[in-house]
Amino acid sequence: MQVELLYHTPDPERAIATAARLCYAPVGASELMETMPEERVKSVLTTIMASGHFSTLEHASFTFAIDGVSRALTHQLVRHRLASFNQQSQRYVKFQEGLPYVKPRSIAEIPEADDLFEDIMDAVSATYARMLELGIPAEDARFILPNAVETKIVTTMNARELLHFFEVRCCNRAQWEIRELAHQMLALVKPVAPFIFMDAGASCVRMGCSEGKMTCGDPYPKVVRN
Ligand SMILES: Cc1cc2nc3c(=O)[nH]c(=O)nc-3n(C[C@H](O)[C@H](O)[C@H](O)COP(=O)(O)OP(=O)(O)OC[C@H]3O[C@@H](n4cnc5c(N)ncnc54)[C@H](O)[C@@H]3O)c2cc1C
Repeated sequence: MQVELLYHTPDPERAIATAARLCYAPVGASELMETMPEERVKSVLTTIMASGHFSTLEHASFTFAIDGVSRALTHQLVRHRLASFNQQSQRYVKFQEGLPYVKPRSIAEIPEADDLFEDIMDAVSATYARMLELGIPAEDARFILPNAVETKIVTTMNARELLHFFEVRCCNRAQWEIRELAHQMLALVKPVAPFIFMDAGASCVRMGCSEGKMTCGDPYPKVVRN
C-alpha cells in the first residue's frame, strides 16, 4: 500500500479558526485570516474541539493518493459518504501484464492456503487475459475479478469527516487493510494540522470505546488537551 497526502488546504488550522472567529467578529474572514495571532488560533481551536462546533472543521480538506490496495478495501472506503472519490476504472484500464493483487498475511502464512490462493489468481489472470483476446469488453471481463485485485483511488475528506473516519477505521475492530490505511492517513495529516488531529484515532482515544460488547478490551490511552 502506498499512501500520499497529495495536497491540503493551506494553513488548515488558521482556516478553521478563521471560520469559527467570523461568527463572533465585526471584521471579515480575510482580515481575520491575516491578522489573528498564532496563540489566538490555538485558543479558538481549543474551544472548537471542546464545544463540538465541528462545522468549522469542514473548511479544511485533505486529498490522498492511495495505490496498491484491494477492491475489498475500496468497497469499504467508499461507504464514507461525506468523502469524495475517484478510482481507477476497470472498464477503461485493462490488466495486460497479469493481475496485480493484495494477499492477506493470514493466507501467506499458511503454505497450503498460499498455494491455493496463488493457483486461483493464476487461473483468474489467465481467464481474464483470454476473455480480452476473445474480444470481451473489459467492463464485462472484469466480472470474474476477485476482491483481492489491486486498485488506485484518490479521496478528499474534510477535517470533520477525517476525525470520524479515524474513529471507526483506526479501531482494532476495523478490517486490517483499511485500518492500516487509516493509520497511514492519520500519520500524514498530524504534522499538517497537529492541534486538530492531536487526539485523533479510534473512538477510544477521543471519547471512550463505542463498540459495546464487541470491544477489543485494549483501548488506547486517552489524550488530554492542555
Ligand atoms: C468495524 C466495522 C464494521 C462494519 N460492518 C459493516 C457491515 O457488516 N455491513 C455494512 O453494510 N456496513 C458495515 N460497515 C460500514 C458502516 O456501516 C458505514 O457504512 C461506514 O463505516 C461509513 O460510516 P458512516 O455512515 O458513519 O460515515 P460517513 O458516511 O463517513 O458519514 C459521516 C457521518 O455523517 C453523518 N451522515 C452521513 N450521511 C448521513 C445520512 N444520509 N443521514 C444522516 N446522517 C448522515 C453520520 O453522522 C455519519 O456518521 C462497517 C464499518 C465498520 C467500521
